Amino acid sequence: MSEAYDVTIYGAGMSGLVAAIDLARHGYHVVVHDREEGYGGDSVYNPSTHTTSIDVERTSEYLGIDLSPVFHPLIRCPFYFHESVFHPPLEVLDMYTVERGNRPTSLDTLLYAEATRLGVEFRFSSPLRREDLGRLPENTIIACGLTPSVYEMLGLPYLRWYGWISRGEIGFSNLSWIWVDEVVSEYGYLSSCNNYYFDLLFSNRHIERKALEKYRDFMVRHEGVEHDNWTYVSGAVPLASPDNPRLFHQGLILCGTISGAMDPFFWFGILGALVTGKVAAMAVYDRSKAIEEFNRFNRHYRRGYNFKNRVWYRIRPHVNWLEWQMNLVGPSRMTRLAALYFRRFRAPFNLPGFARLGVY
Ligand SMILES: Cc1cc2nc3c(=O)[nH]c(=O)nc-3n(C[C@H](O)[C@H](O)[C@H](O)COP(=O)(O)OP(=O)(O)OC[C@H]3O[C@@H](n4cnc5c(N)ncnc54)[C@H](O)[C@@H]3O)c2cc1C
Repeated sequence: MSEAYDVTIYGAGMSGLVAAIDLARHGYHVVVHDREEGYGGDSVYNPSTHTTSIDVERTSEYLGIDLSPVFHPLIRCPFYFHESVFHPPLEVLDMYTVERGNRPTSLDTLLYAEATRLGVEFRFSSPLRREDLGRLPENTIIACGLTPSVYEMLGLPYLRWYGWISRGEIGFSNLSWIWVDEVVSEYGYLSSCNNYYFDLLFSNRHIERKALEKYRDFMVRHEGVEHDNWTYVSGAVPLASPDNPRLFHQGLILCGTISGAMDPFFWFGILGALVTGKVAAMAVYDRSKAIEEFNRFNRHYRRGYNFKNRVWYRIRPHVNWLEWQMNLVGPSRMTRLAALYFRRFRAPFNLPGFARLGVY
């Protein structure tokens, strides 16, 4: 921490980098701290690949950063309820894959290069600690993602999640899948991009090893994919309350996922992190505009949160019933109906930002 800098940011992940770039472009002298030894986000998860819904062109325009080199259209994403599958209408959902971490092809590499070019300074191996809290300079931005200890030290409500993860090189790209089963409250999914994959089975409760074995067995039978290098991890998501989204907290500016700008249904965080990176920077030079933008992007959060908690979690344990419903309608009719629904109604609860699902 140094008083000589105009703005201090904790977290050199995607949102912290976007904030730093925007502030540097506005003439601020920025220093970014991260607990990791280098850029690329949390090393527990990264390198990784994510699948997300995003309007790349409009988001690039909003940020003033061309994101098109690192976002790749998703070409296949079967959605399984147990053993039954339907194919979501990807063209309507604006689904893309993106790589995180410090490989040359990642989003973080693109952002870090731009931040460095603009003169942003970095302090790695420099974690935010509880004892720093009382003496942080004005306008300090916190962009620490999904790290439970930071939620704890700031007293932010969060939900604990648990997951089995596997990642590494693989011989395909831009393919994903989603698997819904009673063994987890959320889902199993694989994302792939730049011949790298990230596989995650996650839940809001502990996941037994035998649940992982069930998922692995499913993957081999339906997708012909098998990997052995699984590790068990746990993290935080700001989805513990309908009031989670907040731009300011205890005199600090929150930025990225820790600000609560996350899709409360699928837990997509990429778009919210990118746009709130810009909004957090704006909070330094135009506070009232930043508040307006933050509220605009997150205005469907509460609805999404309530849908997930009051409706979805009630029917979610009955996967047999969901599977039966899907087969009753028929998988190809499901695809057509989903396309119609999302084209016409655009599910106004869901994602913050510019993805088609959340614009309206
Ligand atoms: C396993 C997993 C899979 C996901 N899959 C998807 C997906 O497929 N699609 C999607 O849209 N979203 C997904 N998400 C969510 C998405 O990754 C996050 O919402 C997004 O990366 C958050 O960006 P951020 O800038 O807020 O934080 P991050 O990019 O995570 O950056 C946070 C930074 O803060 C640093 N940090 C943490 N603690 C401290 C500290 N005490 N002091 C200093 N620095 C600190 C970290 O090292 C890191 O560099 C996934 C998340 C996880 C964990």
